[in-house]
Amino acid sequence: GKGAAMVTAVAYRLAKQQAERQSILDTLRLGREQLVAVKRRLLEEMTRGLARETHSSAAVKMLPTYVRSTPDGTERGDFLALDLGGTNFRVLLVRVRQGRRRGVEMHNKIYAIPQDLMQGTGEELFDHIVHCIADFLEYMGMRGVSLPLGFTFSFPCHQTRLNQGILLKWTKGFRASGCEGEDVVTLLKDAIHRHEEFDLDVVAVVNDTVGTMMTCGYDDPRCEVGLIVGTGTNACYMEEMRNVELVEGNAGLMCINMEWGAFGDQGELDEFCTEFDRLVDERSSNPGKQRYEKMISGMYLGEIVRNVLLDFTAKGLLFRGKLSERLKTRGIFETKFLSQIESDRLALRQVRTILQHLGLTSSTCEDSILVKEVCSVVSRRAAQLCGAGLAAVVDKIRQNRNLNHLQVTVGVDGTLYKLHPHFSTVLRETLRDLAPQCEVTLVQSEDGSGKGAALITAVACRLREAGL
Ligand code: BGC
Ligand code: MG
Repeated sequence: GKGAAMVTAVAYRLAKQQAERQSILDTLRLGREQLVAVKRRLLEEMTRGLARETHSSAAVKMLPTYVRSTPDGTERGDFLALDLGGTNFRVLLVRVRQGRRRGVEMHNKIYAIPQDLMQGTGEELFDHIVHCIADFLEYMGMRGVSLPLGFTFSFPCHQTRLNQGILLKWTKGFRASGCEGEDVVTLLKDAIHRHEEFDLDVVAVVNDTVGTMMTCGYDDPRCEVGLIVGTGTNACYMEEMRNVELVEGNAGLMCINMEWGAFGDQGELDEFCTEFDRLVDERSSNPGKQRYEKMISGMYLGEIVRNVLLDFTAKGLLFRGKLSERLKTRGIFETKFLSQIESDRLALRQVRTILQHLGLTSSTCEDSILVKEVCSVVSRRAAQLCGAGLAAVVDKIRQNRNLNHLQVTVGVDGTLYKLHPHFSTVLRETLRDLAPQCEVTLVQSEDGSGKGAALITAVACRLREAGL
């Protein structure tokens, strides 16, 4: 009768809506062949970045770091370290011991970098940094003490030696003026001189990936790769000097800061990008740049999710079709919310509580299921893309050495990797699938960037004292 016809109509409409949702989510799902293609293209880009002839036009810059070995345990001394470019800005005092009491001991203090300083002038930013160093020395009771300093500066820098780094471009929402194209050590020293209170011996500029690799390498000599999946993403690894065409010499190894976040900036990832990725990119502080990073890292995943939810809602597929002001607000989905929503221990009711907490109050139980599915599709794609990239890196090391089988350790740091309940599992699965000839151990590094900067500084001081 009439009732049955209505039920059928409702069922039909629901099924159609469900199909519509899935077809949108399908654009965010990657198949194995696509991941294989990502790995292959990144390998090609790596070669282009390393070669003198193609370097300037390559998207992935493969920057030499002048770090030639991982620590050997003979490092020692007291060092200052700065860590700028992650979730927090920190100043650290690091004591490195050798011999029987071998180990690293640290004190650090976290300082806020207000939004307006990230986007003001370089002078203001570096004045603030120096102000924090002065505060830290005071706090530690070390006013007037001069220690060698390692500067973890987690942005792409062109280096021609260890203690210089010319900022190529800001990433991750930083855009302080007058810094791009400048040596950050000079910017720091100029600010110190404006302050006229103390002097610092800046020994090394270090990318956070390199610091992470070094920290992990201090305990595990097999560690030859550093990976960050946090606010941004990037990797470094030990490359054969003969392949590092930008630096003289063919013997030994050098750590390469890949700056893989820029993969895709010349269209290499266009066919995998969705309208949601394009929106996130267009509204970022660096449109067209860091395309791979924008599909993987914590600063952007929540925004991808939000754009999907907006689209669903506008099409009447979510939140009863009601677009709230909250949902239209940029940045509401921080990494920690994604991680919470995707936690398996969480009941749907709790997902709903989180959504309410975010101000998305009109949600039903079905809405919660869908939001969770969107989060998991987006983070799964991120972990797979990251895994495909890492597969390229470890396979490059294996091929460099003509090995059938490579055992290697990767030091990993970053809030997304550490907090997300499934990211590392999916990353591992992808890696096993795409680099079957490599046996990779992923080791979470504790406080990698700060400790690593101190270790690199320690090595440099040891060599300097030895007159090398
Ligand atoms: C920067 C890299 C850094 C990575 C992780 C990227 O945006 O370009 O230098 O290693 O973020 O912090
Ligand atoms: Mg960091």
